[in-house]
Amino acid sequence: MSLFQFTARRLVSRAYCGLTASSSKKQKFYLEMARPSSNLADFREVFAKAKHIVIITGAGVSAESGVPTFRGAGGFWRKWQAQELATPEAFARNPSRVWEFYHYRREVMLSKHPNPAHIAIAECERRLSKQGRSVVVITQNIDELHRKAGTKHLLEIHGSLFKTRCTNCGNVAANYKSPICPALAGKGAPDPETKDAAIPVEDLPQCEEDGCNGLLRPHVVWFGETLDPDVLTEVEKELEICDLCLVVGTSSVVYPAAMFAPQVSARGVPVAEFNMEATPATNRFR
Ligand SMILES: [Zn+2]
Repeated sequence: MSLFQFTARRLVSRAYCGLTASSSKKQKFYLEMARPSSNLADFREVFAKAKHIVIITGAGVSAESGVPTFRGAGGFWRKWQAQELATPEAFARNPSRVWEFYHYRREVMLSKHPNPAHIAIAECERRLSKQGRSVVVITQNIDELHRKAGTKHLLEIHGSLFKTRCTNCGNVAANYKSPICPALAGKGAPDPETKDAAIPVEDLPQCEEDGCNGLLRPHVVWFGETLDPDVLTEVEKELEICDLCLVVGTSSVVYPAAMFAPQVSARGVPVAEFNMEATPATNRFR
């Protein structure tokens, strides 16, 4: 690691941790002692001994596959961003528009493929399982690219674009239909000029459980909603038994890794970040 990188990491860390030149000795000591290693030989040694590896992934892992997130600069569908459409209120107000948005995202995903990061993670699980070692992927991504790459043990904390949940009976089902219902065929264009007439609720995706016919919604966690407690229980279990944690394509100070990685690190378990750049949490882990 060059001196420049080292300095940049320290600056980033200080900026985000709010540390100034007048920080206490204890804080300085912590930063210097916890300085991360980029030594792959050291990492390999830790990796070789690990029996239960947790891999936490975020949007960064899917970026190279060209998966749009509709967040941040330029991330618009028509005139909205995801945080305006991916809410229970938006769905209650205009289920047709929200379904058009999700229909578009599902259709886009049909042309997207796992990238080398997804494939390496799936390959890691496959190889280690032959040695009686386990790998679990905890992801916030709803694109199913980990599954497409072959990952078996997957906890999708935000749900999936390819699952539906009935707003009446609560039934959750996998759904890969394209289009998801006839009324959505040819709809959902992201062009800001598009003004599709609203689709009547009875023509939107409906529950196929006996006699239910309830309106389906995407089985994804929307803004303002809480995570599925069953999935969280499984996540907790994995975090408690893992002996190595990899954070891939997400900063460890932002959700979801921020919820999980510090907990693992606090047990003295190594956390390794794989990102394009140092993140504010890089100095906190080993
Ligand atoms: Zn139902």
